[in-house]
Amino acid sequence: MIRVSDITIYHKCPRMCFFMNEGHDLIKEVTSGYLEGIILKELALVYDLAFNSKDKLSILNLELDRISKEIPVIYRSELPGISDENLAKSVADIRSLLEVICSNLSSYNGFFAGGLSHNESLQSEKFGLTGSPDRLIRTNDELTPSIIKTGKMPLNGVWQGDRLQLTAYAVLAEEKYDIPIRRGFVEYARWGVVREAAIRRHERRNVLQILGKTKKIQNGIMPEKPEDAPCEHCAFTGMCDVKSTLASKFF
Ligand code: SF4
Repeated sequence: MIRVSDITIYHKCPRMCFFMNEGHDLIKEVTSGYLEGIILKELALVYDLAFNSKDKLSILNLELDRISKEIPVIYRSELPGISDENLAKSVADIRSLLEVICSNLSSYNGFFAGGLSHNESLQSEKFGLTGSPDRLIRTNDELTPSIIKTGKMPLNGVWQGDRLQLTAYAVLAEEKYDIPIRRGFVEYARWGVVREAAIRRHERRNVLQILGKTKKIQNGIMPEKPEDAPCEHCAFTGMCDVKSTLASKFF
């Protein structure tokens, strides 16, 4: 089975998929950025508790306290031996974002008031694809996947990688529930901003193409090194200077 996260990684660089398929870890060490991302994601899951409160800041501060205690338990395998000091620093950094988050949340009443469901596991035997959107929202006859992102937010719209990820979840949810899905949401957690993205034919086609290419990678074919690959921050830099095979030229 290919995971939706494999599609996102393929979009960053197909070779990352190859090395992960060979058993190498994408994350070599727990950086402060990685830790902040995990905490922010947990916090974003409860923005719906605060969005329409007069005292959003107190609610999110309390939730952040709770999360800081629970993180080492929930993410025990992802954060082995995380020190109290590093955790406290990341929590303090996120606390400094709360005022901005609170000032934005009330702009998305329609989204948060919709009765958010969390984390449903989806699987397609037809496409050999599996994944769990952060939320799958039901409103009247509509079903809408939503994903939480803790990194940078584009000036307008959503990043192309986020759009592909949403489309892959839409394909999975459509197969399970037999309902056409026309849009999804990306929640940029660092700002408390929610953006809508249309599920378009172009990305549907792209998801299916990437699925086919990822299957080839799982069969051991190393893809070409893309010219614009983000090698600077990649954990695989040391092992990546390998020539492509003839097969990879036909990728
Ligand atoms: S080093 Fe560059 S080309 Fe190799 S996997 Fe990483 S990002 Fe891709």
